[in-house]
Amino acid sequence: MAKLLLLEDDPAIARTVIYALERDGFTVLHCLLLGDARRALQARTFDLLMLDVGLPDGSGLDLCREVRAQRPTPILMLSARNEEIDRVLGLELGADDYVSKPFSPRELVARVKALLRRSAMAPALSNSAPGGFEVDLAGQRILLHGVPLTLTRREYRLLGALLRGPGRIHSREQLLEAAWGDDSDSTDRTVDTHIKTLRAKLRQVDPAREYIVTHRGMGYSLELHPI
Ligand code: CA
Repeated sequence: MAKLLLLEDDPAIARTVIYALERDGFTVLHCLLLGDARRALQARTFDLLMLDVGLPDGSGLDLCREVRAQRPTPILMLSARNEEIDRVLGLELGADDYVSKPFSPRELVARVKALLRRSAMAPALSNSAPGGFEVDLAGQRILLHGVPLTLTRREYRLLGALLRGPGRIHSREQLLEAAWGDDSDSTDRTVDTHIKTLRAKLRQVDPAREYIVTHRGMGYSLELHPI
């Protein structure tokens, strides 16, 4: 039975959503505030997250980005405005799907089921080793060919972001979002510096191959090599 987290500050919307999902056999933990959801996520794991964007104590987009930097749990955004959807998709914060309010409970349940199906088919990052990488979500570490990399928190989040879209070019802005969040002191130069140290650490484990590729003026991508 799938366990879902619902972050929604509107009690009426939450009630309808919970009713529809529980009727379909899902277990739903409901949080009204961003802070509650953060604590719930530290305490247990969920099969899928449904995150409202506008909350009294912050934005669900921030939580989306935080979660995405650390784990592959499917995320469905519940968005009130079109511009928010643009941000979700435009900045590639990592949400898997969204529904715009007002939405019908039936539509939401259908999206949830589709996302769960999709994630069940996707290889679990924590068990498989794409290109020799293994993400130990519980231990918050990443292994390359079985060797744990000694990463700082920033490097862990940077590599995690790259690993979620191997072969795809991630702009410095996207990587900054993924690993630094709202830290305004960080610049593109910060990303470059951390990529450099990350490369050095990967080279210590596998000197023969280059994993992080620079795309001039565009950003970085992670190349997975056949093992
Ligand atoms: Ca709201």
